[in-house]
Amino acid sequence: MSLEKIRKLTVAAISTYDLIKAGDRVMVAVSGGKDSAVMLVVLDAIRKRAPYPFTLHPVLLDQKQPGFAVDAFREWVATQGYELTVLEEDTYSIVLDKTDEGKSYCGLCSRLRRGILYNHADKMGYQKIALGHHRDDLNTTLLMNLFFNGRIASMPPKLKSDDGRNVVIRPLAFVPEDDIKAASSALKVPIIPCNLCSSNGNMQRARIKKLIKDMETEHPHMALSLLKSQQNIRASQLLDKSHWAFEKLEDCELSGSFAEEESSILSV
Ligand code: SF4
Repeated sequence: MSLEKIRKLTVAAISTYDLIKAGDRVMVAVSGGKDSAVMLVVLDAIRKRAPYPFTLHPVLLDQKQPGFAVDAFREWVATQGYELTVLEEDTYSIVLDKTDEGKSYCGLCSRLRRGILYNHADKMGYQKIALGHHRDDLNTTLLMNLFFNGRIASMPPKLKSDDGRNVVIRPLAFVPEDDIKAASSALKVPIIPCNLCSSNGNMQRARIKKLIKDMETEHPHMALSLLKSQQNIRASQLLDKSHWAFEKLEDCELSGSFAEEESSILSV
């Protein structure tokens, strides 16, 4: 049941943001975790019913963490009809060496991982790289940026890498994490745990995640509202001069809804 809901939400994200085009070769970045594994299964189901052809290529990066055992996961991917490509690169030692004590490993770890995966996609000529971030990752990032970084930003469903070589997509952008957890158990994904992050964790992220979860017990639609807010920006209700022509306000006629107000001011 969860899988069908996830499929529908994923189709909605793909069509809303034009994530996959005819003929795309999509590299599915799997980490050995539940999110990207479920993404592979759901994208495969969508591919089989899609009105246009595209292909999926699961790739996993073995960062040489002690105890990172790939075999069971590789076999599980094979049962889904795919051959898993495993890249091997010892970023583990670099992350341990370069991260200051008490700081989260995730920042450097994910930067190094991104570089290796992006290079591989470029070398193999993949048009898209699919990442398994879900609705609750987007919401948590939004609040972290608000609380700690002084900006309103989240994780976009589609973006071009800084060097312009890769297009990254997040097909699970609308999907709640709880549905992914349920689907992952039903699919018996042999999850490979990350020893690095469990050793020091990303405390701020975990706190924000818990905050959203706690509030959701009182306000069940709060997470959905957070997601919708990212699709519903009211530049006129914020303070950013680069997105709203405050200096030209006197010259325009304001009336009607915020949307009308915005378009009238921005078109001045
Ligand atoms: S969760 Fe683990 S593998 Fe992922 S970025 Fe953090 S340290 Fe790296």
